[in-house]
Amino acid sequence: MKVLVINAGSSSLKYQVFNMETEEIIAVGLCDRIGIDGHLKHTPMSNGKEVFNEPVNLPSHAEAISAVIEKLTSEEYGVVDSLDEIKAVGHRVVHGGKKFTESILINDEVLKAITECTTLAPLHIPANLMGINACIDAIPGVPQVAVFDTAFHSTIPQQAYIYPIPYKYYEANDIRRYGFHGTSHRYISEKTIEYLGKGAAGTRIVTCHLGNGASLAAIKDGKSIDTSLGVTPLEGIPMGTRSGSIDPAIVEIIANIEGISTADAVTILNKESGVLGISGVSSDFRDISTAAGINSSDGSVIEGVTPNERAKLALEVYAYNVAKFIGSYFTILGGLDALVFTAGVGENSPPMRAMICNYLQCLGIEIDENVNIFRNNGEIVDITSPNTTIKVLVVPTNEELVIARDTVAIVQ
Ligand code: AMP
Repeated sequence: MKVLVINAGSSSLKYQVFNMETEEIIAVGLCDRIGIDGHLKHTPMSNGKEVFNEPVNLPSHAEAISAVIEKLTSEEYGVVDSLDEIKAVGHRVVHGGKKFTESILINDEVLKAITECTTLAPLHIPANLMGINACIDAIPGVPQVAVFDTAFHSTIPQQAYIYPIPYKYYEANDIRRYGFHGTSHRYISEKTIEYLGKGAAGTRIVTCHLGNGASLAAIKDGKSIDTSLGVTPLEGIPMGTRSGSIDPAIVEIIANIEGISTADAVTILNKESGVLGISGVSSDFRDISTAAGINSSDGSVIEGVTPNERAKLALEVYAYNVAKFIGSYFTILGGLDALVFTAGVGENSPPMRAMICNYLQCLGIEIDENVNIFRNNGEIVDITSPNTTIKVLVVPTNEELVIARDTVAIVQ
């Protein structure tokens, strides 16, 4: 069974096609600059066909989906003989609100309920809906499944999801912690439980999804019981460009300083803050590491570079905040069996893992510095020091595979 996985953003649309008999990816691609001019990169993965990487006119998501279908079925770049081979489409949907606690087959009623989540994620849901509607129009009759970033965190208890603000905002307006990166936290926690080999019952895991966006989750018995992102993906640890948790009064202070609206001040917290805001260098951890004079692949000092103090500070603030969250999750879990790192930074930055774990020795968490610098090649790397029992693992994430698996499960 072949499944198309779609991740639609406001001006981009990423896709992967899986052969679910083997879970092999047979094509990946990205439509970029939708609504501006348009570009498509399409890569067939398994049949030796050509890569397509050229500007394509993409006025809207509808043209983007048409361009993708044309490439998937074309003589020169294609991976299927006909569109009939694609038996289902799985869509990443960023917010499921209170309504969606698991993946679901899309119908008119579901589309309406997803649309109602727009108030909680006004930037993301309209883009997700454009992707879904474009697919429904382009391949009618093929089942479409919605997989929500928030769903895995629907198990977190009230004391973790209720904000200490007037209760009416929860009751009337659904303002509560939802959390995001759910497919990633779910995938890596399941992998970790498999690796620990004792079943889900009784396990206590902290998963750290450290990418451009970033979040941590506390996972007990295989279920999320707390997570660092909130009603929107702005809360929690500092991220590439997002501030994470700050004193909320800063919003008004910045608005007054700049003479801008509070909405524009929140945009500064979303787009100009985090490690970019502190360092003034970049939102990319490789650039910040280089500016700080640290080789991000092994933590060695880069000779001849005068360390940029603000770049160093950005890395320090980041590691400090991640460690603080891990400490608090250790408390609510009542101890820990495994600490897990994933996503761009978590998988690829040994020095950041070391900086974070340096704070955690008092909890009995320690890594083996020599193993920490191994590349993972898609496999789990166990970087636990021989002196400790709490496992520290690097587990590569695969959010698209989770979407494809859920899609197959629902369609079948
Ligand atoms: P993601 O959102 O998971 O794609 O992660 C993107 C982030 O991963 C970017 O900020 C990159 O800087 C970071 N990243 C990727 N490779 C490395 C690396 N070798 N060292 C440090 N950061 C990395």
